[in-house]
Amino acid sequence: VSLRPSQPAESFTINTQSLLGGGRFGRVHMCSEKTSGLKLAAKIITARNAKEKETALNEIQVMNQLSHPNVIQLYDAYEARNEVVLILEYVEGGELFERIVDESSPLTELDAMIYVKQICQGIQYMHQMYVLHLDLKPENILCLSCTGHQVKIIDFGLARRYKPREKLRVSFGTPEFLAPEIVNFDFVSFPTDMWTVGVVTYMLLSGLSPFLGDDDSQTLNNVLMINWYFDEDAFEHVSAEAKDFVSNLLIRERSGRLSATQCLKHPWLNNITEKAKHNNVVLKSQVQLKKYISRRLWKKNYIAIAAANRFKKISSSGSLTTLGI
Ligand code: ATP
Repeated sequence: VSLRPSQPAESFTINTQSLLGGGRFGRVHMCSEKTSGLKLAAKIITARNAKEKETALNEIQVMNQLSHPNVIQLYDAYEARNEVVLILEYVEGGELFERIVDESSPLTELDAMIYVKQICQGIQYMHQMYVLHLDLKPENILCLSCTGHQVKIIDFGLARRYKPREKLRVSFGTPEFLAPEIVNFDFVSFPTDMWTVGVVTYMLLSGLSPFLGDDDSQTLNNVLMINWYFDEDAFEHVSAEAKDFVSNLLIRERSGRLSATQCLKHPWLNNITEKAKHNNVVLKSQVQLKKYISRRLWKKNYIAIAAANRFKKISSSGSLTTLGI
């Protein structure tokens, strides 16, 4: 896919009435291809200046390299006035955590294994393609359908191609999912994504956010101090294997964290068919995740502003290679 100048109306019909989501960079609407009627999603990114356009182009460039069942597929892209439009595969099942909360039956550890395994498969593929996602968080994991278990990783707005010799430092993100090296403005690499896999897995298993403090600075401090523990009540029935999996990701030393490939070899993510016969431990995450979802709704705007301010400060000091917001 290359960015082509075209009229939005030419090949696709964007349904601006149906807002699928919105974020830092723009909004996502349902859309369809005129010739085939194929249902798609249109991510409209505001690009009023060269910097914003570069950010949008980066997202296209990164996505162009990717094709995997657990990674959202870029279908087309075009430029309209002050906007870049990404035509994406449409994922109709909504955000994974919202789906879990709405489900009539509670989440089991087996469900968590199935989800985490796919997240690791998607990341393993990305990392094999030398792509760092750098913005993995629950809202960027969508369910393919309303009933099935297949998930897709979305939002490559902050993703980057990893270049071994490039010392990439970044400054953005949602405090509770940031790896310590990001908070420290240190170099990021593949283990940075693996940290977030640890956070997301912890949340799936318990519904709790492992580093969440009373405010952002406390949360960031918890991340820097690697201050987390398994809440006794929430993890009461969670298997030792699952806890071992998380413990091997939420580690300060990047080299100590499991890689995606190692995660996929971890006992917790193996023999799932066999485990399905007896491991149907019901997790306590559903109620807690409800709290997470309502909390993030009001935080969304606040974080975008705070992060933009932080970025301004850092870029004016001129010392970091920064991308994003
Ligand atoms: P953020 O501020 O979280 O980085 P963003 O502006 O980069 O957001 P996305 O995360 O790509 O935008 O999309 C915003 C929301 O739109 C998602 O959380 C999701 O709910 C919805 N969405 C995105 N892509 C799709 C898709 N292909 N199919 C269905 N819904 C989608």
